[in-house]
This record gives sequence, C-alpha cells and structure tokens, in this order.
Amino acid sequence: MFALSTLTSGNNFGKLALWAKHMNFKIMSSTSFHKMQRTYLISTVDEYWEKQQREVLSSFEGHKLIVMGDGRNDSPGHSAQYCSYTMMEYDSKKILTLRTLDKRSTDRKSTNMEKVGFEQAIQKLTDNNIAVEEVVTDAHLGIGSIMKKKYPEIKHSHDIWHAAKNLGKRLGKIVKKKANQILIPWLKDIVNHFWFACSKADSYEEFLSIWRGVLHHITNKHEWILSQGTGINGCLHDPLDENEVREKPWLSTSDHARVLQDLSAVILDKRFLSKVSYYLNYRTTADIEVFHQLILMYCAKRFAYTPPVYRIRNLLAAIDHNYHSNRPLKTNKDGEIRYHRCYNKKSKRWSVFPEKVAKTYGYVPEIAEMLYKKRIKDKVGMGKKMVLEEGDPRRLAKHLAPESPPSTSAIVQAKQTRFKRK
Ligand SMILES: [Zn+2]
Repeated sequence: MFALSTLTSGNNFGKLALWAKHMNFKIMSSTSFHKMQRTYLISTVDEYWEKQQREVLSSFEGHKLIVMGDGRNDSPGHSAQYCSYTMMEYDSKKILTLRTLDKRSTDRKSTNMEKVGFEQAIQKLTDNNIAVEEVVTDAHLGIGSIMKKKYPEIKHSHDIWHAAKNLGKRLGKIVKKKANQILIPWLKDIVNHFWFACSKADSYEEFLSIWRGVLHHITNKHEWILSQGTGINGCLHDPLDENEVREKPWLSTSDHARVLQDLSAVILDKRFLSKVSYYLNYRTTADIEVFHQLILMYCAKRFAYTPPVYRIRNLLAAIDHNYHSNRPLKTNKDGEIRYHRCYNKKSKRWSVFPEKVAKTYGYVPEIAEMLYKKRIKDKVGMGKKMVLEEGDPRRLAKHLAPESPPSTSAIVQAKQTRFKRK
C-alpha cells in the first residue's frame, strides 16, 4: 500500500523516506520499494490503463471523432530525454491514447520524438477502428507531412492560439522600427481581428475579405471598392460614433504610406495566408496543455525516472484525468455555482472559474485490488530476475551519453590529477 500510494499520489520515494526519517517513522527500504515497483507496480498500472483505455475507445465506436494531439518534452529543446504524446477527443476531453518516448528510440534526436509520438498515437486509434474525421495539432512540420502522406482523407487543423501568438510576434517585430510605432496601440486589435476572421469565415475567400479589411479600417475607411471592381466590401462592425473620443490614432494613406506598406507585408504575407485553411475550423489544443500540467504532478522535473517508471507515472496522470473528467461543478446552499477567482500575471486581469467538486480517486482501490491479487498469485516473489521489457530504450543503449562511459575509477583519477596541478 505504501509503495502504490507513493506513485498514485505523484510522490517521490526519496522525499517520503526523508519525511519518515524526520518523523521517526519506520518505512520500507528504498531497495524494497524499487523491487516492488519493478516486480508488480509497473505491470499493474499498465494493465489498469489498458482496461480504462479499452472502455474509452469502445465508447466512441461508430462515431466520427475530432481528436487533438500534442507532445510535451520533459525538458526544453535538445536536452529532452522523454516526450509524452497525448491524443484527446475534442468534445469529451477524454484521453484516447498516450505514448511516452525516449530519445534513444529516435536516433537520439529529441526533435524527432513528437513526430514519432504522433505517428504511434494515430496508428493506435486506427488499429482500434476509431474513425477520425479531423485532427488538431500545432503547426509541426513533420506531423503535417505524415497527415498529407498517410491520412489525406482526414481534415488537419492547427491550434489557433499558436497562430495568433506568431502573428503577434511578427507584428511586434515591425513596430521596433521607430516610424512604425504609431501601430503599437493597434496590435491587440489586429490579433483580435484575426480571431474574429477565423471564427466568421468558412472559406479562404471569406477569410481574406474580412481579414484584409483591417488595412482599410486602420485608415478610417470602413467601406471600399474591391480591387477587381466586382463590388463594394466593408467592415462588419456597427457604424462608428464620430463624437467618441478615439484612443487609437487613424493612419493616413499619404502620411503613413511606408507604415501601411510594412503592415500589409505582415497581413498579406504569402506563407501566413497559405496556412489559413488550418484555422478556419477555429480549433485549439489548450485542453491538452492543461493536462500536461497534471503530468507534472506525477513526474516532477527534478527527478530522473527509468523509461517504464516514466511511462506509468504518465499513465497515472491520464487515469486521473479520464476518471475525473465529468466532475460536477460545486454549488453553494442555494444551488448556485461556486467560482474561484484567479489573477493572470501576464494579462494583469482577474478572471473566474467554476469550482469543481473534489476528486475522489476512486480508481486507487481498484488498482490496489489488482496489485494485491497479483502479489498473492505470484509464487516466486520479488527475488526473481527481471528482464528489460521489449522496446525498453535501455536495450538500445545503457546510457544517455552517445558513447559508453569510462569506469568510475578512471573518472576519479582524472579528477585527482586535475586538482593536483593547481
Ligand atoms: Zn472599420
């Protein structure tokens, strides 16, 4: 029970052992914990997840699903060892599959892990006869090419938050030029206009017609003749009140010709426009990012885990997420929903979220039951020799360093000579 609850509560044995020492509690030894983890815990969590995953997948049989996918590296960029790739159903937010990858299995290239994770995840869905009609990811090049080559019949959308953020970055670049600083008060509105255009438009043409309107609007022109002479177009906002005090300066086509030129280079950028079809369904992967925070509770960044332990700690996060995904909202005595407020340091604004009832962790006794049965039925016990499971990256290479390490005594000697020189 001690070993299992160490894992299910996202704890680390070393820290708990220290806590017990300070409290003068006698607990199991580190060796026993790790033996128990290796012999029983890993396979039990795997089996419990398999069972939950089968139930989730079969509940979607016969439906056409929108799924979102995103990867999370255990540390940024090239130094990452592990990547967790999650695929979630868009409406219910249930996790359909979760893959954990080690960089030893992708030629030691951290950057390949996300693509391989995506490939394995979507394959898992296909193998289980899940009909996917749309996939939502961020704009990852490798994933884009898999979708085009292997799944051309599935609609591919990109996370609109990423696009809005990139647009903001590109606008931020042009206002670094002194002459363009008149645009600064407009930046937020331009990005909002992008969100608006994506939410309104159903086709590229429709998007473009709304989107490029910003170049007219900013010069206080709210109706204009189309360039092909095919008619008149206009802003979609209500008529402006001329007496209203303006916070943002209008631009003049004559005085600010260069500014408008720089702005339109961003607004009508060919690469940017070529991606518009990915945003028209107005999708985000924000819910997976929320789940990635939960993974952190189970796999804290400062600790090193072996591949199977990293995997089951991720799976425990997924089990926790799926088990609690339909939690009801908390209400007070009068039946009103309770909210808690939250301050966003970045936007410097307060917002409110409905409170949910506390988690019950009802799956923990179920896992415990499976675990105890496994122990009772096992005739050999924890003394048995364990072989690395198939696909364990430690079969490919024992260490993370690209070459095998020198012996410890050789490192000690090298260190001593280095210090003698001083
Ligand atoms: Zn306008």
